[in-house]
Amino acid sequence: MEKVRIQDDLFQNVNGEKLEKLVIPDDKFMAGGFAQLMEDVENIMLKDFAAFLNGEKAIPENLPEVKEAVKLYKKVLDADERNKEGITPALKYLDKVKSISSLNEFNENSVALLLDYGMPMPFKFDVQPDMKNTAINSFAIEGPEMILLDTSFYDEDNETGKQLIGVYSQVTSKLLSLTPLSEEEQKQYLADTLTFDRNVSKVSKSMVEKADYVAYYNPMTISEAQEYFGAFDLNSFLKQLYGENMPDKIIAYDDKAVKGFRTYFNEENFEQYLHWAYVNLLIKACGFLSEELHTLSTTFSRTFLGIAKDPTLEKQAYQLASEIFSEPIGVYYGRTYFGEEAKTDVVNMVKEIIETYKERVANNDFLAASTKEKAILKLDTMKIKMGYPDKVDPFYATMKVDENLNLLDTMKELNKIRQLHTLNKMLKPVDRSEWLMPGHMVNACFNPFSNDITFPAAILQEPFYSLKQTASENLGGIGAVIGHEISHCFDNNGAKFDENGNLSDWWTENDCAEFKKKTEKMIKVYDGMDFHGGKVNGELIVSENIADNGGMAVTLAIMAKRNNADYAEYFRNWARIWCMKASPEYVQMALVRDVHAPNELRANIMPRNFEEWYKTFSVTENDGMFMPEDKRLIIW
Ligand SMILES: [Zn+2]
Repeated sequence: MEKVRIQDDLFQNVNGEKLEKLVIPDDKFMAGGFAQLMEDVENIMLKDFAAFLNGEKAIPENLPEVKEAVKLYKKVLDADERNKEGITPALKYLDKVKSISSLNEFNENSVALLLDYGMPMPFKFDVQPDMKNTAINSFAIEGPEMILLDTSFYDEDNETGKQLIGVYSQVTSKLLSLTPLSEEEQKQYLADTLTFDRNVSKVSKSMVEKADYVAYYNPMTISEAQEYFGAFDLNSFLKQLYGENMPDKIIAYDDKAVKGFRTYFNEENFEQYLHWAYVNLLIKACGFLSEELHTLSTTFSRTFLGIAKDPTLEKQAYQLASEIFSEPIGVYYGRTYFGEEAKTDVVNMVKEIIETYKERVANNDFLAASTKEKAILKLDTMKIKMGYPDKVDPFYATMKVDENLNLLDTMKELNKIRQLHTLNKMLKPVDRSEWLMPGHMVNACFNPFSNDITFPAAILQEPFYSLKQTASENLGGIGAVIGHEISHCFDNNGAKFDENGNLSDWWTENDCAEFKKKTEKMIKVYDGMDFHGGKVNGELIVSENIADNGGMAVTLAIMAKRNNADYAEYFRNWARIWCMKASPEYVQMALVRDVHAPNELRANIMPRNFEEWYKTFSVTENDGMFMPEDKRLIIW
C-alpha cells in the first residue's frame, strides 16, 4: 500500500504503519500513545510487585506505605478462599441496607451507613477549595453517578443507551439472583433502580454544562439546601459528620441536581432509593468477591468501553493496590525510574515556555493592558509540580491492611479511612502542596484553584520526552503538552480565576467579547465533523482545543529562536504523541463525554493554523491538510 502523504494526513503518515500492527489488548479499550505508556508503566510495576512479594526486591525502607500496598496486592492474589465464599461476605452489608425500616431510621444513621456499610448516598459529595477563597475548603455536592454516566445516553432516540441498559439489566438480574431476595423482590429492585436512575438523569447537568467551571459555584446555606433536599436530612448528615464544626454552607456543583433532588428522592419513593442503594452496593461489593463475581460485575463497564476481558488476577491486584495507595506508589515509581537530569531539563523547558508566554501575552492584540498585567502575574506565580512529590501525605501511614480480614472488609476499612481523610479536610486550611496526580500516571494537568501545573513522572517518557530525542521532537511532544496545560490558566475557564486560584473577574468586558469571537471561530472548525460514524461537538471540546492551539503557538515561537530547529521533527512528534487505536464503543462514548477532541483530529487539525506547517511540508490548497487563511486562528 502506498503511504499516505504527510500533506494530506499527518496522523496517518506518521502513525499508519504502527496503527496497522497495533492490537488493542483484550483487557484494555485502547492501544498506542498514552495507552502504550500506561501499559509500559504497568508492566514495570507488575514486575516490581511480584519481586517485592517473593523477596527478590526489597521495599524501600523510607516508603513503608508500599509495604501495605503489597499486602493488599497479595490479598487480591489469594483468591481461593474468596472463590469458595461467593457472595457470602457481602450479605452483612446488603442485609443492613435491606433492614432499614423507615426514612427516620435512615436519616438518623446516614453517616454510619455510609462509612461502616458503604451505602451509596443519593448524592455525591467532595471537599474542595472554596472557589471564591481557595485558602479554605468547602463542601461540594452533585447528583449521584448515573448508570450511563452522561445525560445524552438517556435521550429517547439514543439506541446505544437502550442497548447498554439492556446489558446492565441482564447482569444485575444475575447478581440479584445470588442474594437472599425473593424472585419478586429481585424484579422490583431492578425496576426501581432503573427508575431512580432515569429520574436522576432528568435533573443532572450534561457534559457540556459540566465543562463550565464557574457554573460549579453555587453556594447555598444549609437551610436553603435543606429546602431542596426535602426528605433527606442534610442538616443531620452534616451534624453526624462534623458535630459542632458543621459547615454553614454547601456548594452545589450541580445546582440542577440539587434543585431537582426532591424529584428523585422523597418520602413517597424512599423505598425506590433503598433498592437503588442495595443494587449499587451489590455491584460494587462484587468487585472484591470471587473471581467469577468480579468478572460478572465488570461486564457492564467493559461493554460500555468495548473491553473484551477482565484483566488477569495479577493485574487486578496491582491496579487496586496502586489506586488505593496511589501517592506512595507514584513516589516509588518516580524515585526509581525518573532521573534528576530529566527533571531539571523539563523544569527548564517549563520555565522557558512560561517566559515565552509572558512575551506573547505582552504583545497580544486583544487584551487590555490591565488584563495583560494580571495574566503575567498569573504566569509568574504559577507553581510547577514535576515528576512526583517529595513526601507522601501522612494520612497514608494510617492505611493499614489487616491480614486477617477478607478483601471486601479490607476495602471497606480502607475506603472509610480515605473518605474520612477527604471529609476532614473541611476542618483544615487548603493544602496547596497536595498533588492531583500520582507519579505513575500518564497524564498532566492545570489546577485552576491553586494556579499550578502537574507533570507526573510517567508522562515524561518517549514519545513525549526523552533525553535521547532531539530538542525539536521534545518541543513537539512534552513541550506542546506543557504549553497546553499552562494556557488553561487563561482559557475560558482559567480566565475566571486569579493568581491565587480565586474566582475573580480580571478580564474587561471587551477582552471577554474578543475572546468569545475567537472561541466561536474555534468551535466552528470542529463542530459537526464526522468521526467514525459520530459527530464532533465543537462546544464540548473548545477549551482543550484552545489549549492545544496555545501549546503549539508557544512551542513554535521557541523553535523560531533556535538555530537548530527542525520543524519536520517537531510536527512528526506532535502526531506521534496522539497515536491511538480505540474500541468503537470508546470512540462513541468519548465523542459525547470527553472534553478533548479525538486524537486523530488533535494531530491533524491544529497544525493547519500555523504558517510553519505550510512552509515545512509545502502544503497547498490542493492538499488534505490545508485550511483557508480566514479560518486559521492563533489565540495566544
Ligand atoms: Zn487540557
